[in-house]
Amino acid sequence: QQPFLSIRDLKVHFSTEDGIVKAVDGLSFDLAKGQTLGIVGESGSGKSVTNLTILGLHDRDRTAIDGEILLDGQELLNASEKELERLRGNKMSMIFQDALASLSPYHTIGTQIGETYRKHTGVSKAEARKRAIEMLRRVGIPQPDMRVDDYPHQFSGGMRQRAMIAMALVCDPELLIADEPTTALDVTVQAQIMDLLKDLQQEFGTAIIFITHDLGVIADIADDVLVMYGGRCVERGTKREVLTSPQHPYTLGLLNSMPDLHGPVDVELSPIPGSPPSLLNPPSGCRFHPRCAFADKVAGNLCSTERPMLEIVAGRGSACHLTADQKRELFAHYAELQ
Ligand code: SF4
Ligand code: MG
Repeated sequence: QQPFLSIRDLKVHFSTEDGIVKAVDGLSFDLAKGQTLGIVGESGSGKSVTNLTILGLHDRDRTAIDGEILLDGQELLNASEKELERLRGNKMSMIFQDALASLSPYHTIGTQIGETYRKHTGVSKAEARKRAIEMLRRVGIPQPDMRVDDYPHQFSGGMRQRAMIAMALVCDPELLIADEPTTALDVTVQAQIMDLLKDLQQEFGTAIIFITHDLGVIADIADDVLVMYGGRCVERGTKREVLTSPQHPYTLGLLNSMPDLHGPVDVELSPIPGSPPSLLNPPSGCRFHPRCAFADKVAGNLCSTERPMLEIVAGRGSACHLTADQKRELFAHYAELQ
């Protein structure tokens, strides 16, 4: 059976004044219907760019794209702007960190949700308003029949986020892309929004790509996890596999710098030394090698000369030159830390 979303060898390169930025450089993954894939990585790892490309929201003039994006069998990279517009909001939809950027300050919440619905269904204004109220109720806005006529500035940050989710889901999309949607919120509201997304996914059966730099959020919501580094996937597996038995030194580093996942144990947190690679002039071989504590365990200078290929077997794999035995050892080291 064909996966609902299938990405093959995606490359997204921008031209800038300083040269070509290889923001995404050979990324492949699949997503099944109704599943949640968490994409985790530092900023600049290519996770947001990947998702803007799926939605067709990249700057076409300055971007060179190669590869394949199949949504329900339809190739998106060749789709016309008109076709993409038909798909956006309807079949695929997105929510961002900043609700204010996606909501217009000039129109009421109800109008904005309603117009999105009208655009794709052609219903009357009265019908669309009813639908907007219904959606606001479903995302937990109190007194939705009153609040529907409010403007975004009359909503709190958490309520705006809910309104944006209502707008994203109003046409019952099959794919929802959520790019750090809770990062700007305080912890309590963050937890409420995560619960809301989980409930809505149950109800609507939406497939979700959840982009975050926070493994705690991944632990909460994802079925599968994809770890990105320097525009490439370095590890893929189920949430359990990735969070409890990481196979890639970068994932291990992320886990070691996450207090929440370790519980109350007073582990010394060790952020990964160094900074993310330049994508103008990425490191040769394994892009993580300048920061990797394990590079010298690999024979020869393979880490700095040869790209480790990502080999996925039954949904599980990593891109690293370490042997399977060495990776097991890595995991033992991680278990010790826990
Ligand atoms: Fe580290 Fe080498 Fe594996 Fe890259 S390939 S993660 S440098 S051990
Ligand atoms: Mg981002």
